[in-house]
Amino acid sequence: MEPKATLSYDEGEETKRTLERQGYHFVGTQKHSAVKTCLWLWKSIRGEGNCYKGKFYGISAHRCVQMTPSIFCNQRCVHCWRPLEAFNINIDTGTETELKKQSIGWDSPEEIVEGCIKEQKRLISGFKGSPKTNKDAFAEAEVPKHAAISLIGEPTLYPYLKELIQEFHSQGMTTFVVTNGTNPEVLREISPSQLYLSLNAPDEAIYKKVAHADYWSRINESLDELRRKKGRTRTVIRITCIEGLNMVNPDGYAELLKRANTDFVEVKAYMHIGYSRKRLSRNAMPAHSRVKEFAGEIADRLASSDSEYKIVDESEISRVVLISNLSSGKKALPTTFY
Ligand code: SF4
Repeated sequence: MEPKATLSYDEGEETKRTLERQGYHFVGTQKHSAVKTCLWLWKSIRGEGNCYKGKFYGISAHRCVQMTPSIFCNQRCVHCWRPLEAFNINIDTGTETELKKQSIGWDSPEEIVEGCIKEQKRLISGFKGSPKTNKDAFAEAEVPKHAAISLIGEPTLYPYLKELIQEFHSQGMTTFVVTNGTNPEVLREISPSQLYLSLNAPDEAIYKKVAHADYWSRINESLDELRRKKGRTRTVIRITCIEGLNMVNPDGYAELLKRANTDFVEVKAYMHIGYSRKRLSRNAMPAHSRVKEFAGEIADRLASSDSEYKIVDESEISRVVLISNLSSGKKALPTTFY
């Protein structure tokens, strides 16, 4: 049986305060959506660098709104930087209709998009007068071009995700959605510019150790959904490598990757930050060389099949390696969004 839980927001106030202390800014009336600026935005606005998503996919960090429409999550991943310990919120997975019935008032997509853009502008406004600010970058940052729907929580638990994506697109913005894959029904409905699935285990036993959840069959269904999206939206699987836990069985990963047939695979190190430090030791964060070695093992397994996957890029500072699916009919190196 997959878990069934109802949403309880009773202890949400303490959770909200914890997240606010960590720099999350809630938007909307119901406070289930949040926006947060990242280190790379500040670097980019000063002309001092860009995040790996810029290198791989052409995203300008200073024009990116990092947000979530759902601070809730149905998994309890050991590597999550959220304060899982402070959360007493459970929400069931399910179809859009089932999610809408859960006992929370959901803010509308329009309210969330407007709130996020407004809040992002307020957050960057302090940079206007700084001598370190690049004036052109600041002017661009005032008109965000991209929404990374991936901050914390699981976005497919927001029952109007399809409409939220459409609303961002209607504002002339592109969208990345990062999902844990537990809601294949929702993935079927949505069309972001790029769809990421976080795959953090090569098999069910390790999945349960990493995610502390019981959705393996749903995640496998989501892999099939990614395959079906081929050519309609850019698809990516991200593997977060945790030393001593899931950096094993490259054959298992390769089998799952072949099933999803995504355009790209990101193999990335777990980062020892936030609340994950309470659950994992620093040794669980692999060095870039180790991530590269493991990505190479996976790519070798894929290469020995009929697929045409190849390592095409890396970012040492972010400890991430990019594998491209050359049979996607796209260039080996990603084309950019802008
Ligand atoms: S799926 Fe993502 S947000 Fe949810 S617990 Fe895991 S890492 Fe955290």
